Amino acid sequence: MPLDPKRTVAELRELQELTGDADGAQRVAWTDTWVKAQKWMAGKLAGIEMEFDEARNQWWTLPGDSDRALIIGGHLDSVPNGGWLDGALNVVAGSEVLRRIADEGEPPVTVRLVSWADEEGARFSRSLFGSSAAAGSMADQDELRERKDAEGTALPDAIAAHGVDLDGATGARRQLESAAAYLELHIEQGPVLESMDLPLGVVLGTFGVERHLVTFRGQAAHAGSTPMDKRQDALAGAAKLELEIREIAKRIGEGAVCTIGSVVTKPGIVTSVVETAECLLDQRHLDATQLAEMLSNAEAASRRFAQEENVEVEWERIWNIEPILFDDELIELADESIREVAGTSRRLPSGPLHDAAEVSRAGIPTVMLFVQSLRGLSHTKLEDTKEEHIELSVQALDRLADRAVEWVGSR
Ligand SMILES: [Zn+2]
Repeated sequence: MPLDPKRTVAELRELQELTGDADGAQRVAWTDTWVKAQKWMAGKLAGIEMEFDEARNQWWTLPGDSDRALIIGGHLDSVPNGGWLDGALNVVAGSEVLRRIADEGEPPVTVRLVSWADEEGARFSRSLFGSSAAAGSMADQDELRERKDAEGTALPDAIAAHGVDLDGATGARRQLESAAAYLELHIEQGPVLESMDLPLGVVLGTFGVERHLVTFRGQAAHAGSTPMDKRQDALAGAAKLELEIREIAKRIGEGAVCTIGSVVTKPGIVTSVVETAECLLDQRHLDATQLAEMLSNAEAASRRFAQEENVEVEWERIWNIEPILFDDELIELADESIREVAGTSRRLPSGPLHDAAEVSRAGIPTVMLFVQSLRGLSHTKLEDTKEEHIELSVQALDRLADRAVEWVGSR
């Protein structure tokens, strides 16, 4: 069968009809609806070798002349009341490419499609379950054993109902042993491509993140009896920092983002100067050096403001992750593929993490394609992409798959 991008759009609508409702997509991992989606996908690829691995990742394989494998990946699971494209586009578009390649006879290298299990982490707040198991980076089994969903079902029980043993899940690692390249198409989930009027872009990598709790400590004092020049107002330090991080992000540039998402003040009453202000700070950049620079700039600024306001400040790291950079040569091939089908390409970083980041961390050359999202919306039923852009994205993935097959074969 020749490539038919219109069929991808039709199949995505069919999947939405089958597994969604008036509130959006309901393919939450480890539910019957998710399994229904997996069976539906298996039906669309009947005739191609299919298996579930130890983490319930779903794999299709076209054996090639060489065992070295090009992998195309995505995820069928969604958040509750999710969009029709997040994750599913990658799998359904990948299936179209796989059928096209299968139709042309044995490929020179093995070509595989994977639908990763539980990318979203919607039920147990643990994202990238299947891909981290396969990548060998899943190390939080002890913590996961204690996780429960909103109904009180424990994670080990929920996944056991789908044939997955928490400790055995990492057996999925064998799936990446022969992997030579990994491709993932995804909706952008942000406004950049739409604002530039471009259908497609190449993803350079995923942002590194530094997350800190920054606490300013002053002295509670009566709001009526304490003169303005005698105050140790913790909120004043926090307020100055909030405005300064915007300047820091602007100065560093290249997509830098800094956010104080929460400030909790104590005692938090109208009759007292603020004694403590706890700020949650999130900083992101694609370049590790620049990210470190942003962090040290914010730290230095906070000390300066603490001094100015006669308060103290302390920093506690909550979470961090290094930037994950995709493969230079695959980025080049992705650029060529996009230019071929859409005329212009654009390179951009990804704010959200994706399964591709786990695969890349495992040392497998990886690249992602983004297709424009309308209004930048995702994780809502309002998520949408123009049909013509979906069709272009299938074509670009197809061209990239051909280039990548050749690239894997030549290495
Ligand atoms: Zn996704």
